[in-house]
Amino acid sequence: MSEVINVEELFASKVFTRATMRERLPENVYKEVIKVMEKGGELSLAAADVVAKEMKDWAVENGATHYTHWFQPLTGITAEKHDSFVSHPDESGKMLMEFSGKELIKGEPDASSFPSGGLRATFEARGYTAWDITSPAFLKEDATGVILCIPTAFCSYKGEALDKKTPLLRSMEAISEQALRIVRLFGNTGAKKVVASVGPEQEYFLVDREKYLKRPDLIFAGRTLFGAPAPKGQELEDHYFGTIRERVGAYMKDLNIELWKLGVTAKTQHNEVAPAQHELAPIYETANIAVDHNQLVMETMKKVAGRHGLTCLLHEKPFAGVNGSGKHNNWSLATDNGVNLLDPGDTPNENIQFLLVLACIIKAVDRHADLLRQSASDVGNDHRLGANEAPPAIISVFLGEQLEDVVKQLVETGEAAHVLQGGKLETGVSTLPDFTKDATDRNRTSPFAFTGNKFEFRMVGSADSIGSPNTILNAIVAEAFCEAADVLEKAEDFDLAVHDLIKEYFTRHQRIIFNGDGYSDAWVVEAERRGLPNIKSMIEAVDTLTTEKSVKLFDKFGIFTKAELESREEILYETYAKTINIEALTMIDMASKQIIPAVIKYTKSLADTVIAVKEAGADASAQADLLNQITEKLNGMKTALAKLEEVTAKANSMSQAREQAFYYKDVVKEVMEELRTPADEAEMLVDKKVWPIPTYGDLIFEV
Ligand code: ADP
Ligand code: MG
Repeated sequence: MSEVINVEELFASKVFTRATMRERLPENVYKEVIKVMEKGGELSLAAADVVAKEMKDWAVENGATHYTHWFQPLTGITAEKHDSFVSHPDESGKMLMEFSGKELIKGEPDASSFPSGGLRATFEARGYTAWDITSPAFLKEDATGVILCIPTAFCSYKGEALDKKTPLLRSMEAISEQALRIVRLFGNTGAKKVVASVGPEQEYFLVDREKYLKRPDLIFAGRTLFGAPAPKGQELEDHYFGTIRERVGAYMKDLNIELWKLGVTAKTQHNEVAPAQHELAPIYETANIAVDHNQLVMETMKKVAGRHGLTCLLHEKPFAGVNGSGKHNNWSLATDNGVNLLDPGDTPNENIQFLLVLACIIKAVDRHADLLRQSASDVGNDHRLGANEAPPAIISVFLGEQLEDVVKQLVETGEAAHVLQGGKLETGVSTLPDFTKDATDRNRTSPFAFTGNKFEFRMVGSADSIGSPNTILNAIVAEAFCEAADVLEKAEDFDLAVHDLIKEYFTRHQRIIFNGDGYSDAWVVEAERRGLPNIKSMIEAVDTLTTEKSVKLFDKFGIFTKAELESREEILYETYAKTINIEALTMIDMASKQIIPAVIKYTKSLADTVIAVKEAGADASAQADLLNQITEKLNGMKTALAKLEEVTAKANSMSQAREQAFYYKDVVKEVMEELRTPADEAEMLVDKKVWPIPTYGDLIFEV
């Protein structure tokens, strides 16, 4: 019998929830906190002091000794600096644990070592963290003890955003304001805000930790830089939704428990397509909390893996030749009085508000396809997007048959008189229930797919923060709502005006709608004919951030200043260059210290064999043949290694971030491939016993 897990009791036990606050705070303070959470504004210092004291007491009762302002710098991961609650002892030597309202609201980490992309000169070290009251504080437990974590935004001395959260919060306010204008036009006066909801499905790999530790490439780069394919890959499709192995099952159980304690609604778990690949999905929640929680999910995945002798790989492409990992970012908009703006109802053709919202989203995605693509790019994702395992690098929208038909009618005749319904699903087996099926099938090749009452943005990388994709989504849709509201609020005949606007938007932007096979070559040609951007790599997407239309968009809604955008561009180029540089150096290291020496040793023993066999008077041609083949690979490796050393040194000497990043992509990465090819071929020829690192077969089939 396994122990009983009381999930209801465990859930959010490490979170300073609203319920905890209601219990512990005086009523007036509690009310003030809720008001700020829901309506914005600032908490009075007096109230903040009370909240801080109660938060500290709660944390200390639960074992905490320290607190931290937990933030999300532009590294894509989270940062924390711990301060204990220890205060100055009194004369008698007695010390009381303290935490003030000021310490809760504002922190001042020395920010000079975080990427700022030139926003801050190095001598301007000041950065501030500011409490995000809408995302609950929580307790993190690790070897350092229990730490009270306060989710915060991170800004420079001049108020410029140095993180992923600040622009996200700005974009959430923008979309709320503009979406409210839309729902008001349709008579919803009760709604006070519109919330962007997000549910991210997280993919990951698990490998055995002992084997991981024998692979410098996994340690330094998070992905394999060498490795011949195993005899079996994912072709049998036997891993997807397959029975979960014991060791992985124990990991998942432990992971769920840790996440539930942190208030993360871990909901779905299953094996994914590639061997050793898995997925976890939580229930959706408010965008900024979803972003915070996704960071916790990634962090907890790694932490728990260690306890099971495993390592969790979040890289987008840890292994060549099998699927990589992504994150499906499910996104929708709902009013605080319970209306999902993306819910079409049974008769979407008659749901004018839904059609207007949809038309605005279509317009936004078409106009800013480049930005959306940029938001899903990171170094690892370059291996996936457009590689026929993940959405193509071309942005398009999948609506499904039902909505596509409605749009078609609207564009052609101005009216959508009828709507396709799902009909009955008949299995042909009398004991199975017949049920009504959805009006629309799914399309897994689409980067941006409508899935019933939400859009699923399927391009996002597995290791990346979902902060940027959601900031961009909110921003571009806010802009479209704003423009629609500008027209409709002035209209004399609202019904006519909204009808015309919907027709106009669908007509002008229908090129972005594509329901076919996004993996096909024909789509690449067709997309080009339609004039849709096909941005093939992360660094080619960088300058979409500062086009005239982007700067205008972000400025209009106060999401990014031009300086903030330029700094982000700089950081993206730098990140790219640094990442590829680490990969190149790791390859040089592994090739020269592990692979080449092992191959040389093996050729020596082969040569000895050839001589011995010949001396014995037998035919040694097979052995000699093999020796020649391996020597050829060895020579290939030596040549490529020398070349890689040369181009990496050259790349390192470059000072312009953009030029350097492109050199890494166009030159260094190519030479890395030149080195990998003969090494992988040699792996196929050399005795497994002498191969110095665990193989693909060892790594992905023996977890
Ligand atoms: P699938 O994509 O396979 O249909 P689900 O329907 O379970 O899977 O949803 C996947 C993710 O989408 C989950 O995280 C879920 O909570 C989230 N989701 C469901 N409805 C919404 C919504 N209205 N807004 C945002 N996310 C949602
Ligand atoms: Mg999904």
